[in-house]
Amino acid sequence: MEQKRIEGLWDCVFCDSKAIKARFASCPSCGRARGIDTIFYLPDDTDAATLTKEEAAKTSNGPDWLCDYCGAYNRCDIMVCKGCGSDKKESKTNYGILHKLTGKLFKKNR
Ligand SMILES: [Zn+2]
Ligand SMILES: [Zn+2]
Repeated sequence: MEQKRIEGLWDCVFCDSKAIKARFASCPSCGRARGIDTIFYLPDDTDAATLTKEEAAKTSNGPDWLCDYCGAYNRCDIMVCKGCGSDKKESKTNYGILHKLTGKLFKKNR
C-alpha cells in the first residue's frame, strides 16, 4: 500500500498566525522560527493536505528531527544539526514522535 504523506500545520505563538504549513520552518508573517515546543496538528481536511507524489518526492523520506541541544529543526537527510553541529543520533525527538505526542494532547483538549 502506498504511504500517504500529510502535511501538518502549526500556529505561530508570536503573531498568532494560524495553520502554517509544516514546510515552513519559520513564520511567513513575522519571520520567527518555530521552536521545539511547536505543536503540530493535522488539518481537518486531510485529503487536501495530502501531498502529491511529486510533492512527497521533494520532502524528506524519514521523519525530520529536532536537535535536543539547540532546538533547531533539521531534515531527516541531514546527519548533523545545522544549528549547533551535534549528531542526529543524540537527538531523540523527531517529527513523527512529536506528531504522536501532540496528537494525544489534542484529543485530551477536546
Ligand atoms: Zn508569526
Ligand atoms: Zn543543534
